[in-house]
Amino acid sequence: MTPPVYRFAPSPNGLLHLGHAYCALLNRDLAEASHGRLLLRIDDVDLERCRPEFAAAIEEDCTWLGLNYEHPVRHQQHHLDQYSKALSRLRDMGLAYPAFLSRSEVTQFVAQTGHRHDWPRDPDGSPHYPSHDRELDAEERDARLASGEPHAIRLAMNRAIAAAGPLSWQEFQRDDKGQITSQTIDPSAWGDVLLAGRSITASYHLAVVIDDELQGVTNVVRGLDLKAATSVHRLLQKLLGLREPHYHHHRLILDVEGRKLSKTDGDKGIAALRARGW
Ligand code: GLU
Repeated sequence: MTPPVYRFAPSPNGLLHLGHAYCALLNRDLAEASHGRLLLRIDDVDLERCRPEFAAAIEEDCTWLGLNYEHPVRHQQHHLDQYSKALSRLRDMGLAYPAFLSRSEVTQFVAQTGHRHDWPRDPDGSPHYPSHDRELDAEERDARLASGEPHAIRLAMNRAIAAAGPLSWQEFQRDDKGQITSQTIDPSAWGDVLLAGRSITASYHLAVVIDDELQGVTNVVRGLDLKAATSVHRLLQKLLGLREPHYHHHRLILDVEGRKLSKTDGDKGIAALRARGW
């Protein structure tokens, strides 16, 4: 039987904190307990926010934590062509479209409708993208593309859900029984989710499902803050014919005020704790 494959996949847009250490060590423990493999992946597809010095710091922290991960480490920015191919497939299937409004233009548009308070928002709190670019007539869309107008690429959510058919994901427990429960999912809560940004080849959602497939990841273990995103990941996996990993979403480590730790709280970073003698 092939061994299970776990991965720890931080984004190098800041320093790792205790929450990351927990996630990394949990992946390591689960991989060890099942004689599985452990991968470290640097999720740096967002070239504007990610920095090589944070990627180097992540490897240093992971080594210090005693994480015995495989080499070479996959860096998303070296695989942009693989995300582009997946994006083209979704466009060819008629499930992705160019979206011309920037984030601030979406906010402005929503304010102008007078429905700012009851406009649907995704699980991360961003307003759903309005429908006009999805419905744009082909001639106008092609002319705007030909003129070089900046645009992102979004998934036509309702069409995608209809094309994918019934969806679920398998959540496994960490106890000895490793019980698996099937979760029903509703990706429509995300609206026309982003697949690629104006200057980013692929969104987190698209890159992560391609990477997990290409790396043969069988068990995705990550924080509860990403649980809602799993419905989008399952949808994309189904549309692109990718294998379905099992998921486990762990509880988060919170600060004394009950807030999620942030990469921008440098003093709570693993490197700072180590420097203070932890
Ligand atoms: N790169 C993502 C993050 O740092 C996590 C990816 C994942 O575990 O799916 O939040």
